[in-house]
Amino acid sequence: MSSPSNIIRAKLDDVPILAGIELAFIGIGSNLAKGQEEPAAVLQRAFAALALLSDYPILVSSLWESSPVDCPPGSPRFINAVAALRPRHDSPRQLLSSLQKIENEYGRKRGTVRNAPRTLDLDILSFGEVLMQEAELTLPHPRMHQRAFVLQPLLEISPNFIVPGMNPPASQLLRGIVDQGALTPINFTKSL
Ligand code: ADP
Ligand code: MG
Repeated sequence: MSSPSNIIRAKLDDVPILAGIELAFIGIGSNLAKGQEEPAAVLQRAFAALALLSDYPILVSSLWESSPVDCPPGSPRFINAVAALRPRHDSPRQLLSSLQKIENEYGRKRGTVRNAPRTLDLDILSFGEVLMQEAELTLPHPRMHQRAFVLQPLLEISPNFIVPGMNPPASQLLRGIVDQGALTPINFTKSL
């Protein structure tokens, strides 16, 4: 895959300049095409949009296909990924607002059905070590530790990740999830 230089597929430990820097981890998902654009293509474009919110190239996971979790019956399978960025924004709320703008640009419709199929979902998984619990923004994301489709891509970027405020490490949390089916890696070659 040819990626723009502001999108890097690498482990955090291989990018020493990011050591000790406050990073935001973003969970990305899509299970609905946007016109002709399949979910995998939507995720590729979402990477490019996220890179604009970061003042250092973003680190991205592979793309993974996963079974829907807690979704309405018959929901299509998801394509998921995680990205780590160094936020230009000084606050998590501003970052969330930028993510919601990107979701809207990518055709996200907000209906009343919980977890209905969506063209693009961008969640803040964590923002440095920030802990907050408000309806509009809870950090770390309240369900991230229960979801293989979040933890598996996240661990590609940061194998030693610890969910802020939580024990045990994310790798151990993932091993404890047995009922969500295996994630399938997607070989997505179309360039942006
Ligand atoms: P979900 O991501 O749970 O499937 P939505 O994307 O529709 O559903 O988000 C519902 C609401 O969750 C958003 O309006 C947002 O304010 C809130 N929210 C709370 N914590 C977070 C978070 N960490 N990241 C993203 N949204 C969050
Ligand atoms: Mg969301």
